[in-house]
Amino acid sequence: MTMNREGRPTTPDEVGSTAPDTFTGNRALRIEEPVIFDVGTAEATGVDLPEPDGAVKSRLGGLERSEPLDLPGLAEPEAMRHYVRLSQKNYAIDMGLYPLGSCTMKHNPRLNEKMARLPGFADVHPLQPVSTVPGALELIAECARWLCVSTGMEAVAMSPKAGAHGELCGMMAIKAAHAAHGENRSIVLVPESAHGTNPATAALLGYKVVAIPAREDGTVDPAAVIERLSDDVAGIMLTNPNTCGLFERDIVEIAKAVHEAGAYFYCDGANLNAILGKARPGDLGVDCMHINLHKTFSTPHGGGGPGAGPVVLSERLKAFAPLPYVKMTAAGPELIETPADAEADGTKPFGRMTAFHGQMGMFVRAMTYMLSHGADGLRQASEDAVLNANYVRAGLQDVMSLPFGERPYMHEVLFDDSFLDDTGVSTLDFAKAMIDEGFHPMTMYFPLVVHGAMLIEPTESESKASLDLFVATLRDLVMRAKRGEVDRFKGAPWYAPRRRLDETAAARHPVLKWTPPEPQTADAAE
Ligand SMILES: *Cc1c(COP(=O)(O)O)cnc(C)c1O
Repeated sequence: MTMNREGRPTTPDEVGSTAPDTFTGNRALRIEEPVIFDVGTAEATGVDLPEPDGAVKSRLGGLERSEPLDLPGLAEPEAMRHYVRLSQKNYAIDMGLYPLGSCTMKHNPRLNEKMARLPGFADVHPLQPVSTVPGALELIAECARWLCVSTGMEAVAMSPKAGAHGELCGMMAIKAAHAAHGENRSIVLVPESAHGTNPATAALLGYKVVAIPAREDGTVDPAAVIERLSDDVAGIMLTNPNTCGLFERDIVEIAKAVHEAGAYFYCDGANLNAILGKARPGDLGVDCMHINLHKTFSTPHGGGGPGAGPVVLSERLKAFAPLPYVKMTAAGPELIETPADAEADGTKPFGRMTAFHGQMGMFVRAMTYMLSHGADGLRQASEDAVLNANYVRAGLQDVMSLPFGERPYMHEVLFDDSFLDDTGVSTLDFAKAMIDEGFHPMTMYFPLVVHGAMLIEPTESESKASLDLFVATLRDLVMRAKRGEVDRFKGAPWYAPRRRLDETAAARHPVLKWTPPEPQTADAAE
């Protein structure tokens, strides 16, 4: 059995199992899969191309490769099996509950996929003449209109390709706005509970980040903000609902103080799914906010991406939105693409975030989600997301610990590890034991404001039966931890294709290049 540096096994093993080893190393339908370089060969291929007839002249001016590329090749059925086997080792929202807090892993309705595959949307090319794609531009403009209306904001930059990219876009608009007023402010305020992307974004733009501590109750105290405001503060980056799953009740007062100091209010809107149809960020004094279409509006996440992170902007910032943008006119949609177009339109874009207009396929999916729900359905989705999170809280609060007390949460509920005190089981062990039970773990050790955080976001797309099983499973695990079944937790996951990996070593010394195994020599064989 292979062990990692922490002395924990990295190969599959069953608890106290007497199951026999298999000849192949596979365990029934759980089939081992080597990396493609180990199975592929340069000669194998899934395609048959005719040999070039000597007449083809190279246009590489003598820079042709002198050696073969050494890429692994597989025949078509082998390639198919390789990738299908790998995909089956991955957990997915289509397999089970995925309660990652702050990530909003909700069901992606298949209707969205169907619409995104319509040839008129799927096959357009960003370099196609604008006159041939008025429908696509109109869809971008309509999606933008829904985002502005539902957030109470004036304009939206559609092109950013993720939440973090949207943050960068919003903060660049803020920087441009200060520059337009002849100011060069150097500080951005960020609460301690913020997503790591907030301080990273501010730092990337050369700002100094000043942290705002959380109050006892997990929210931001306006007094703590006011204390840190000065004419050198460019803005604040605040998340609402915050990453503890709590609504920042003093947001209006905070916004007012920030504006009075001549700064701007960036709201991290990744958690819009909790308030959509209930509260409009524009009414709360927000100047700009990214919206992760891959969270609130059910477009796929991560490996199923790409994402899209449009940024809604207030009256004070809208002129600085990046190029290109779509403008609806009586004659139809118009694409404003160049600084000259922008000048004629009376705007002052800070530049460009991406080569083209953003993720068309994601706009189609998000628009489908909006239209199929309608305004009332979107409000219902927020209400159900909050209801589901509170159902999980109510089902677990007597056995797990709530750092901010038994009170209503928004779309996610935050537990800490004090219920594990004296059990010898850590947050990490607990999460690994959830994998054995067939659940993806919740978000762990984030936000940093509580010890051993476990942030659970069930989303509105889980049924009551699914939540009941989840709650019952976690209750069972808590009882096992309290009963002293420490080994079960320390050895978990027992049933995953890989056990505990040394994640620290993997991050510090990543092996990014495959090296061929040493050829076996006769000497070595002896
Ligand atoms: C998800 C998230 C982000 C970043 O979004 P990406 O699309 O992953 O870049 C930022 N802030 C919060 C609070 C988030 O939950």
